[in-house]
Amino acid sequence: MISVQSLTKRYGSVLAVDGIDFEVGKGEIVGFIGPNGAGKTTTMRMLTGFIPATDGTATVAGFDVFDEPMSVRRSIGYLPETPPLYTELTIGQYLMFVAEVREVPRRERLGRMGLVMEQVGLSGWEDRILGSLSKGYRQRVGLAQAIIHDPKVLILDEPTSGLDPKQMVGIREFIRGLALERTVILSTHILSEVEALCERAILIDGGRIKAADTLDGLRARVGAGVRYRIEIQTVPNVNLAAAVGALDVVDQVAPAGETDGFVGLDVRASEDPRTAIASLVTEKGWQIRAMERHMPNLEEAFLHLVEDER
Ligand code: ATP
Repeated sequence: MISVQSLTKRYGSVLAVDGIDFEVGKGEIVGFIGPNGAGKTTTMRMLTGFIPATDGTATVAGFDVFDEPMSVRRSIGYLPETPPLYTELTIGQYLMFVAEVREVPRRERLGRMGLVMEQVGLSGWEDRILGSLSKGYRQRVGLAQAIIHDPKVLILDEPTSGLDPKQMVGIREFIRGLALERTVILSTHILSEVEALCERAILIDGGRIKAADTLDGLRARVGAGVRYRIEIQTVPNVNLAAAVGALDVVDQVAPAGETDGFVGLDVRASEDPRTAIASLVTEKGWQIRAMERHMPNLEEAFLHLVEDER
């Protein structure tokens, strides 16, 4: 549904996007993640035809973004980082205007407007002036304008930024519903949002793609980051960290505090060391309170991948 090859954007001496390639399939919901200034917004703006590329090609819904911009705009719904709302218009006037620009047939415009306002939780708000809306409600209008022409592809730039937790949950549910029939790319700094909504994420850093993978695939890249948290009761004159560290399967042991007479150990191992640790503890007659496997989360994967090159 979206295909990008060698897409590049240069702003003077700044190489904002540096020859990226990626594909997003029909019905997929993909997260764009990356540090500030990574090039996420620039990529989204090129895909939506808002800014020209310096080099490379991109197609959306089978249309070339640069040669067939009008067809692309009809196929795409775009929520920019800061939606350009006309502050003196009412919500109804604005959405009718957008419907006209996006070529929704005249007789369908009122119906579409009513439907999308209901979908984003704005029913009955037609006469509210845009300039008087709170951030959350402006974001809802931004989403309503993105879907008024029923596009196949949605590009959402930080759709929940600045929303309160309740609104955030509501908008996420709404996006999940939209994604059932559409292809969605969304950028966000909230990695739990990616975990809640996306099957796959594309990590951009310094204008390049550092990783494009399923969320499990991304977490697996910090394989060395799988840790085991062990708590063994202190034993007089025994260095428990050294004893556990001496096991063949264990690569590294770091002390992780002592509470209520139990020593915490942070264990790293290439394979699951828990059986070996349990055998050791039983053999020595020690007491064990906890043995937990700690998988890296997306945040750890993000930091690992981003820091890798710094
Ligand atoms: P954020 O997470 O902070 O929104 P981003 O990943 O969306 O960041 P972009 O906004 O795409 O990053 O910016 C990528 C780079 O391009 C940055 O170095 C930015 O300063 C630069 N840049 C973006 N827009 C312009 C512009 N209009 N003129 C010059 N440089 C720009």
